[in-house]
Order: sequence, then structure tokens, then C-alpha cells
Amino acid sequence: MDYLPLFVRVAHRDCLVVGGGAVALRKARLLHRAGACLHVVAPRINEELEALVHASSGTVQRRPFVAQDIRPNLALVVAATSDAVAQRAVSTAARAAGVWLNAVDSVELSDAIFPSLIDRDPFIVALGSGGRAPVLLRHWRQRLEALLPARLGDLATFAGSMRGAVAARVPEPRARRRFWERLFAGPIASQVLSGDTAGAAAAVGRELASPPPDAVGEVYIVGAGPGAPDLLTLRALQLMQHADVVLHDQLVPEAILDLVRRDADRISVGKRGGGESVEQAHIHERMIELAREGKRVLRLKGGDPFVFGRGGEEIEELVAAGVAFQVVPGITAANGCAAYAGIPLTHRDVAQSVCFVTGHRQLDRPGIDWSLFTRPGQTLVIYMAGRRLGGIVAALLAGGRAAATPIALVVRGTLPSQRVVTGTLADIAARWQEAQEAGPMLAIIGEVVDHRALSPAVPAPQSQDTTRS
Ligand code: SAH
Repeated sequence: MDYLPLFVRVAHRDCLVVGGGAVALRKARLLHRAGACLHVVAPRINEELEALVHASSGTVQRRPFVAQDIRPNLALVVAATSDAVAQRAVSTAARAAGVWLNAVDSVELSDAIFPSLIDRDPFIVALGSGGRAPVLLRHWRQRLEALLPARLGDLATFAGSMRGAVAARVPEPRARRRFWERLFAGPIASQVLSGDTAGAAAAVGRELASPPPDAVGEVYIVGAGPGAPDLLTLRALQLMQHADVVLHDQLVPEAILDLVRRDADRISVGKRGGGESVEQAHIHERMIELAREGKRVLRLKGGDPFVFGRGGEEIEELVAAGVAFQVVPGITAANGCAAYAGIPLTHRDVAQSVCFVTGHRQLDRPGIDWSLFTRPGQTLVIYMAGRRLGGIVAALLAGGRAAATPIALVVRGTLPSQRVVTGTLADIAARWQEAQEAGPMLAIIGEVVDHRALSPAVPAPQSQDTTRS
């Protein structure tokens, strides 16, 4: 981060604007709104600007800038002239005096930059790109502007006026946060946003007068998708923002965990897909225990919770314990990897069905009968194939699937480091060994692999491929 975003109080403090034209006026208006005492130095000064200065009980000097204009008590100096030499002189003098300076249109001369604003005072969104991409900034400012209700500022003011009363009635911090969350998501907020502040105040009064509901916890079993953060569902993101504590698999990457509410506790339950795990029973216990403490527990799982994710066992335990829960689907690895590797899972000509199979073998159960998956015209997706790849391929060949059947191994699918290793059932084991890849891997087997296509314009994430000759 090149700049520290900060809101600075300038009320009743001296601020100097060097320049008397339209740009100076724009900056002066902002400073005036924030209550600054404005001083302007410029040979010619715009009338409106002069009026602002008087309204702020400041001073006007009709002459060129001199270094002595920079006094150490200034909260901020704005250089807003159209003269490059003057701009530099102001910047040099301000820096020498250790006073914060904004030089309009020059990131290089500035120590402070005015952010782009979405203004629903007192609700303010400040945006910046460190001076690198002003058009991008404008694009997103417009999009965000459209998202935020016009009366959001009224809602912020309203909430501010209720804070004392709410804190007195709901002293416990977590319960209070929930009170506000309910309020902002519910009809009282809508009332304020539609202009009925008096009605909303009465409704808050009624809420506060009724006894607070007991804190009851809940578990959110959420699929985090195959790894790329932008493949999360909106619902997943909402619940991630809502949770008090998160129990996550190791497969869930840091970039996704960063989107969980910042003060939620994080507990890694250390399950690597298919690998050795923290006892599943222990995960059940923790989930139930935390929910009974009244917490909102986010159980964040790679891919989809109900595809080789043991989500089924978890909900059975929650039902037995009488704990409320929700399940949010995620993009399963098969879908994510297929899409990002450019391989359709079904295809009118070559694949009328698709099977998801686990390569993980449970010691106390009979193994999978691979001869069931040897028909052509069927795509086979194998999760957790890893070390057993050679054995699985041999079993498919022994069952009669053609040796020329194409296969793709997608490693770290959807992540920037995704790799795809392709081959046939005959040679894939050797190619896989040669590739020396680590990380989660998914095998896609069937004629669809030959229909693989990547967009010429947008290549899949650095698909450094070892492609079949
Ligand atoms: N519930 C998960 C699957 C968990 S099992 C889902 O729906 O995707 C873990 C296996 O999923 C891994 O061994 C691997 O085969 C596969 N997998 C998960 N994420 C992957 C990724 N980003 N790339 C490739 N395979 C992945």
C-alpha cells in the first residue's frame, strides 16, 4: 500500500490553498465542508472561492505564493495552480516544513491525495488507486455509487443517534452486534431508507423494550469452491461475513479465508482432501460445542460440501444434536477444473453421462469395482486419485476401457498455478510421475478430453500444459 487511507479532522484548523481558479475552488469546497479555516494565496481569485474563504473566517492574499506562506501550524496545503514551477515551489516548501501537501494532478509532488468519494455523509466511501488508474477508479466509483441507497447517510445518522440507548439496553458486545446486524438487514432500516425516520425510531423503541432473544448458535456448512476466490457464491460470502468462528479445511486457500469477517476466530481442522485428518468426530464435537455457546459457526469446506466432503455426516450429527444449520453449495472440483482446463464434462457426440468417483480407499470397506466405469461414452472424474493413479488406470484397462482413452490431470485447478497434464490411459502414469506435481489433483477420463479448447483471447490461468502429442 503506497498511501495510508485516513480520515482527518480539519475543523477549525488552518488549511492553505494555493491557486484561485476552478480546481482550487473544488478543493476549497471540500475543506469548507469539513469545517477548515481556509487561507488562499493567488494573484487572481475566483469570486465564489473568496466567498467561501470569508465564510470560513479565513484570509485571502492576492499575490504569488512565497515560501513563508507555509506555516508549521497548517493542517494541509493544497497546491492548485496551473503553473508547474509554482506547484513544485509549494511542494518543496511544504515538505521542508513537514506539512502535508496535496498537489493537484501530481502524485509525485503530493504526500496526501484526495480520494475519490461516494458521499452519503456521514457515510463516506473513499476510493483510491494510488494515482495509478483514475479511469478504473471512476468506473468502480460509479458502480458502487449505484449500489448504495441514496439515504444511507440518514441511516448512519439514525444509528448514531440510537447508539447510547442500544448500548444501555444490550450491553453484551456480541448480542449488540447482532442487534445492529438485524436492524440494518431488516424493516427498520428500510423505513429509514424510505424516509420514515420517526416510524423507525418508534420501532427501535419497541424492539429495545421487548426482552432480548436468547443467543442461539447456528452452523453454516459452506462450500468454498475449488480455490479461486471469485468462484465463491454470493451466499457463501454473506455467511463468511456473518460468522463468529470458522472451522476450515486445509484445502481452503488463504485468499478465501481473508474474506471471512476479520474478527472471527479461525480454527484449521487440518483435513487435507483425502489425506490424514483431524478426527471427523472431533470436528463434529467442536461444531456443536461452539454453536451451543451461541456462536455462528462457519464450517468452510473445499469445493462442494456434499461431494466427497463429509457434509452428509456433519448434518446428521447436527440434526441429532438439535443444532440449526444451513448448507451452501460450492463449485465442486470437477466443475471448476473442467471449466478452467477447457474440457467439457459431457458432449453430445462423445459423452452422455459423467461419474464422480473417489480414488480414496477406505481400509475397512471393499474397494471400488473399476470395471463399472469402463464403458465408452461416459466421462469419469476421479477425486483423490493421487498416489493410487497407477492402480486405478490399471484396473480400468483390465476392465476393458481402451488404452487410447484420453485423460487429463488437473493440478491446483482454478488457481493461478493450475497445471494440466494430459495423456492416454496407456501412458499417463509415466507422464504424471515425470511431471512431479504437488497439490490437489483431479483426473478427467474420457473422449471429452480430446474436445479440450481454450479461449484464444483469455487463456486459462497460466495453463502450462504438458500436452499429449
Ligand atoms: N468437496 C470437494 C472435494 C474434497 S476431496 C469438492 O467438491 O471439490 C479433495 C479432492 O478434491 C482432492 O484430492 C482433489 O482430487 C479434488 N480437488 C479439490 N480442489 C481441487 C483443485 N483446486 N484442483 C484439483 N483438484 C481438486
